[in-house]
Amino acid sequence: MPSPKCIFCAIAAQKAPAEIVAQDDAAVAFLDIRPAAPGHTLVIPCQHYATIWELDDVASLAVMRLTLRVAHALRAAFRPDGLSVMQNNGRAAGQEVLHVHWHLIPRWHGDGLRLVRGPAVSPDEPLPEVARRIRAALPTA
Ligand code: 5GP
Ligand code: ZN
Repeated sequence: MPSPKCIFCAIAAQKAPAEIVAQDDAAVAFLDIRPAAPGHTLVIPCQHYATIWELDDVASLAVMRLTLRVAHALRAAFRPDGLSVMQNNGRAAGQEVLHVHWHLIPRWHGDGLRLVRGPAVSPDEPLPEVARRIRAALPTA
């Protein structure tokens, strides 16, 4: 179900303007309106899911399939030195649009983009304990 006020739902339904570069039945790729680099593309599921926590297997596979296609297109079209694929969930993570999306950002040596925060913090818990906590919380496959 589309979410009535969601701009990305409107783009997926082609009811709002966007530079769509690729699409299939379940996912759409379009240019970010405020690109961090030439070719900065967003990939979304057509259906409305606010964050990664709402996404199901079928929609996430569709997003990944389209992400892969667009990643190859960006490499062929812009010849970048690298590609950052990133994704934010929740306001605390900097998510501005609450329709889950993946950023594909072509990268060049020395481009100065700072997508990742500074040096790693020293963990409160030893890594084996952190890993144990995550393993214990994994949903069944
Ligand atoms: P977030 O911060 O949620 O991970 O990223 C949202 C992205 O969506 C931002 O990079 C922003 O520039 C982009 N964006 C926001 N509104 C629109 C829009 O109406 N059209 C397009 N094409 N991109 C948008
Ligand atoms: Zn939406």
